Amino acid sequence: MVGRPAEFCPRCGTDLESVRVENREREHCSNCERVIWHNPVPCATVAVVDRAGPEPAVLCVERGVPPGVGEWTLPGGHMEIDEQPETAAARELEEETGVVVDPDALEVLDAASLPPRDGKQVMNVYYVVDRAETDGEPVAGSDATKARFWTSEEFDASDETFRPVHEARFRTVATLDESSVQFCKR
Ligand SMILES: [Zn+2]
Repeated sequence: MVGRPAEFCPRCGTDLESVRVENREREHCSNCERVIWHNPVPCATVAVVDRAGPEPAVLCVERGVPPGVGEWTLPGGHMEIDEQPETAAARELEEETGVVVDPDALEVLDAASLPPRDGKQVMNVYYVVDRAETDGEPVAGSDATKARFWTSEEFDASDETFRPVHEARFRTVATLDESSVQFCKR
């Protein structure tokens, strides 16, 4: 399995040929006699929501690495090979913001395949957690250059840009009341 379209067999390096398997064109290695499956890559993201103020504020990070350098997004990233998605979300949160949370405190918000980029397609699991369940003040780290809480209104009043594929979830979470997490599917 590969995350981007393969030209050569990842096992033996042979040029791949296209074959029709299960109603789709797939890359096939004639030497290994196997299909090189091209599948989505799982990622996990978490929205930490602070409801202490008049409007909910969501912990966001400014991206320091491509794609989308300078855009704001929700903390998240790729799952490690042996991780549960909520553990990945909590780890990425800590790496990018310094904020610590118990993975068991995370609630699933949504799961969605994101639009492909250079042939790579991510399947993202979105979590949400209340700020009260977390520890530590946000400090940007890892792939992030800034980390801070934004309300939807504050963000609109700024000249910052939100990463398009995650903006809808930021807006959803920033307008959720505490009892409606289960109703916030797309
Ligand atoms: Zn091969």
